[in-house]
Amino acid sequence: MNKKETVYLSPPHMSGNEQKYIQDAFDSNWIAPLGPNVDQFEKEVASSVGVKGAVAVNSGTAAIHLALRLLGVGPGDTVLCSTLTFVASANPILYLGAKPVFIDSEPDTWNMSPQALERALKDAKADSALPKAILVVHLYGQISKMDEILNICNKFSVPVIEDAAESLGSTYKGRAGGTMGEFGIYSFNGNKIITTSGGGMLVSNNQHALDKARFWATQAKDNADHYEHSEIGFNYRMSNILAGIGRAQLEVLEHRVQSRRLIFNQYKFYLSGLPGITFMSELENSFSNRWLTSLLIDESQGVSKCDLLNFLHEANIEARHVWKPLHLQPLFKGTAYYPHNEDEHVAVELFEKGICLPSGSGMTKGQQAKVINRILDFFSINDICKGEII
Ligand SMILES: *Cc1c(COP(=O)(O)O)cnc(C)c1O
Repeated sequence: MNKKETVYLSPPHMSGNEQKYIQDAFDSNWIAPLGPNVDQFEKEVASSVGVKGAVAVNSGTAAIHLALRLLGVGPGDTVLCSTLTFVASANPILYLGAKPVFIDSEPDTWNMSPQALERALKDAKADSALPKAILVVHLYGQISKMDEILNICNKFSVPVIEDAAESLGSTYKGRAGGTMGEFGIYSFNGNKIITTSGGGMLVSNNQHALDKARFWATQAKDNADHYEHSEIGFNYRMSNILAGIGRAQLEVLEHRVQSRRLIFNQYKFYLSGLPGITFMSELENSFSNRWLTSLLIDESQGVSKCDLLNFLHEANIEARHVWKPLHLQPLFKGTAYYPHNEDEHVAVELFEKGICLPSGSGMTKGQQAKVINRILDFFSINDICKGEII
């Protein structure tokens, strides 16, 4: 095996069938605008996750922006948002001139803590300043504790947006992530479980709202025989070529989920006996797409997380820290934040201990063996685990 070859964290994995849809678009010269692949891709995603409708857009970030605007988020409003996530979850809150309030994770799912959420809503209610929306992120394929979260949000009558960018193919009590709140969003960025090279989808059972989103995403052209505009619009739609890639990718989603789960299970089998290592668990009654295999390293057991990441980097293996909580980002300095408990900051701890391992569904057995063996090497170099490894 080529030593120089890099094992990437989550590279695109084409099925081969993408060319057929792209060719159809070329044959009909339907390169732009929109077109039959876009319409079909929307229908296919909606039926695959079990919602009434979907709007294909050019990124997951755009889908979040549209969802927030549909809920009327504007200057001076607040939106409660998971703190342990990629910055793209929260940037659209800023686009609209609103303020995020960050909610900590809880230890079982690493996702939004229902008890921190409830405290934040109680405080907001006491201030007569309830948030316009709750933005719940389903991290690394793990769906949040949605029953608890929805119960709390219903009690305060605040609508929920699910950022399921990382969780297409995951379910919670039989329901797809992204379909339980008012709106859900998916991303088809190059690193996600399926990709259009770049793209996103807004889903909902509210067709009327989706029509509005489609209108805003297409430059908000009013119904007239000239160019007439009465609202701010965006150029957010997905191209017919990229939607073609998405259709072929969606056909193999189930296989991609199976591969990623297998990769997770392999890592767990070989590495879970190492001192200080615990893998992200899977909530009962939920099914994770295991987008990225994530684990925690307890440094009190004598291993340094940064040393391990550097060691893997030297071996051309792309492993990463888990997301840095947004309330710790310079961009969000001074932003309100609710911890899981007063003295228990779960997301901060997950950031301090957590790493993600290469998890691409196209990864070969040899590539995964390389990652596993380098990690085992790292542990024996540190004289911690001699001979105990299978
Ligand atoms: C990737 C990602 C996004 C953004 O999706 P893009 O398509 O890259 O704009 C949003 N939220 C989370 C949690 C993500 O992982």
